[in-house]
Amino acid sequence: MGDDYPKTILELERRFATEEACREYLFQLRWPDGFVCPECQGGPAWPASRGRLVCQPCRHQTSLTAGTIFQDTRKPLTLWFRAIWYVTSQKNGTSAPNIQRILGLRSYQTAWTWLHKLRRAMIRPGRELLHGRVEVDETFVGGEDPHGGRWVDRKAVVVIAAEEDGAGIGRIRLASFPAPTKKCFHRFIQEAIEPGSIVHTDGRHALTGLEQLGYKQKRSVLAGRKDRQAPLKLLPRVHRVASLLKRWLLGTHQGAVEGEHLDYYLDEFTFRFNRRTSRSRGKLFYRLLQQAAHVSPTTYRDMVGGGKAKN
Ligand SMILES: [Zn+2]
Repeated sequence: MGDDYPKTILELERRFATEEACREYLFQLRWPDGFVCPECQGGPAWPASRGRLVCQPCRHQTSLTAGTIFQDTRKPLTLWFRAIWYVTSQKNGTSAPNIQRILGLRSYQTAWTWLHKLRRAMIRPGRELLHGRVEVDETFVGGEDPHGGRWVDRKAVVVIAAEEDGAGIGRIRLASFPAPTKKCFHRFIQEAIEPGSIVHTDGRHALTGLEQLGYKQKRSVLAGRKDRQAPLKLLPRVHRVASLLKRWLLGTHQGAVEGEHLDYYLDEFTFRFNRRTSRSRGKLFYRLLQQAAHVSPTTYRDMVGGGKAKN
C-alpha cells in the first residue's frame, strides 16, 4: 500500500469524498494484515452499529479510531483527512488560525488541538538515531522579541543535531531545554545520536566528556576571537537549521508558539525537514496518517496540563 495515496488535492477530494472511503483507508493503514483485537490479539472482526467492530473470537467491542489520535473525535474523518492534507502539502505547514479558516471549524481551540494531536504523530516511535558525522550546537528562541511581533512566549535553548552529508545536511534532531548545561547536551546526544558517531562541536565546556559516552568528538575552535561569524563557519549546518527554524516559528506561526509546547513544534519542523527531498507531498500525507493510526490519543486537557515528558 506504500504508493497508494493521493498525489493532488483533486485526487484527495475524489477519493476521500465519503466517511466510508476514509474509514476503509484508515483500516488498511492501521491493520494492513487484517484486524487485530486489542483484547485477545485475534481476529477478524464483524462490523457493528455506529462504526464499531466486534472481535469474532472474543466478542470484544472496539472501533477503528480507538487508540489512535482520532479517538472520541466528533468531527468526520473526511475533515481530519483534509487537515492532514493541508499540514503536509504546504511547504511550511500551517497554523491554527489558518486551519480553522480553511476547514471552517467554529472553534480556534479545535484547530489548535488538531494540530497538536498531529504533531504527536509526527515522530515515529522507535525512530532511528542519527549517525556518521553529526554537528551539534544550540540556538536560542523566544524571550526577546526580534521583530516587534509575537514570539515564543518564553526563552528556551534549542539543541540541534545535523548529520553532515557531504557539503549538505542529512537528517536532523531537535530538542528544547531550559539551559545549555552539560547534562542537557549529554542527554540529548544520547537520545539522538548513535554511539560510535563523530560528534562535531565547538570548544565549550558543556560539550566535553563525549568520549566517555562512546562518541568520537571533533572540536572546532577558531583562533581569532573577534570574528562574530565564527560559529556560522565552524558549524554551518546547525546554523542553517537554526535560521530556518526561526523563520518558520516567526513566519508560519507568527511567533504564536507556547513555550511549554515548543518540543512539539520542533517535532513538526523535524518531520518536514527530514522528508524535504520526498518527491511527492502525498507521501507525507500517507506517512502522517499512518503514524496517526498508531499513536495513542491525547486530549486537550492533557495538552494544556503540562509540557512534554522528557522520558
Ligand atoms: Zn478479541
